[in-house]
Amino acid sequence: MTTSSLIALENRYSAHNYDPLPVVLAKGKGVWLWDTDGKRYLDMMSAYSAVSLGHSHPRLLAVLNEQAQRLCVTSRAFHNEVLPVFLEQLCTLTGMDKALPMNTGVEAVETAIKAARRFGYEKKGIPLDKAEIIVASNNFHGRTVTVISFSSEPDYKQGFGPFTPGFVTIPFGKTDALSKAITPYTCAVIIEPMQGEAGICLPPAGWLKACQRYCERHNVLFILDEVQTGLGRTGKWFAGEHENIKADGIILGKALGGGILPVSAFLGKSALMAGFTPGSHGSTFGGNPLASRMGLEVLTLLKEEDCIAQSASLGKVLLEGLQSLKHPLIKEVRGKGLWVGVELVGVSARLVCEKLMEKGILTKDVYDRVIRFAPPLIIERDCIDWTIEQFAQTLKLFE
Ligand SMILES: *Cc1c(COP(=O)(O)O)cnc(C)c1O
Repeated sequence: MTTSSLIALENRYSAHNYDPLPVVLAKGKGVWLWDTDGKRYLDMMSAYSAVSLGHSHPRLLAVLNEQAQRLCVTSRAFHNEVLPVFLEQLCTLTGMDKALPMNTGVEAVETAIKAARRFGYEKKGIPLDKAEIIVASNNFHGRTVTVISFSSEPDYKQGFGPFTPGFVTIPFGKTDALSKAITPYTCAVIIEPMQGEAGICLPPAGWLKACQRYCERHNVLFILDEVQTGLGRTGKWFAGEHENIKADGIILGKALGGGILPVSAFLGKSALMAGFTPGSHGSTFGGNPLASRMGLEVLTLLKEEDCIAQSASLGKVLLEGLQSLKHPLIKEVRGKGLWVGVELVGVSARLVCEKLMEKGILTKDVYDRVIRFAPPLIIERDCIDWTIEQFAQTLKLFE
């Protein structure tokens, strides 16, 4: 089928909850993608940071194949031989005591909310059904009804109410906002250490640490959603490390499944995880042997291929290269590691993405304002240089 007939077919049969660029992908390998006509593109999206190890990594495919032939899904009605090893590694890596495996990021966020509320009632003595969780404005934590209940983006919410109560929003990065928002009913703060879907936004230096300290003093859980920022994306294993944050819980997803399977987890300290008792929470697919094996191999590869150091050093090249363009259409270039947002002014970021696509670079705008550059962490220097060059050329088209 031709590109245009495939797009027409999708438009006919798919609900229109996305507005993709007009490219139909057929193949991927490493940092490269190919469309149905065989044209090659550099992947600067990495599926919203899920594909950190690149497309079709041979070691991930080998593990997938090997484990698939042994055992895939058993449910948690029984133990399996891979899950405990995977969770041990995850806890060691994050410094957490216990983990609860799920599949998608938003399920792990929901798990964190449940854990925080139970902690609030059982450990803090908050009156039943009164618990409050503090979140940040412009957050993105996923798409379930409860999670969009505390979104500040009208597009995510319009027509989907009634919403789940129990959430209080503070401005992201505002220093004294948290102290005013905490009440005796507050059980937790759940935030992204850096906001991805808001357009790669970093809080002012010291803000996260101040929030964490404040939570500690008031016996409020400090939980980081590292679904997008975690596992090396920002040049550290976890973005909280940039400020030496001691979180009570951490939410992981996206890259944890190697861009092949949905694998997520909520990890926390013992006191927080103690709230979960048999029957209180679960998932048919969460923690299955195939997903656990994939997650284990992802952690091994991120270490062996030195992806975190690579993200830090090449990320610096990418950030500084884009900053040095100093083009009038660029309002700001910001980011950490291989995770850079370019905020444009006076031009549609969507149109710029379409031109970049013609030049062989795939990425997507955020709110038509910001262009994200988030390649697989295995990218090499020459591809970074090429991207900066192509981006500069593309901006020239809009002068
Ligand atoms: C993508 C994302 C989620 C949701 O993950 P899904 O797998 O799409 O459910 C949650 N939190 C953050 C920070 C994300 O970037």
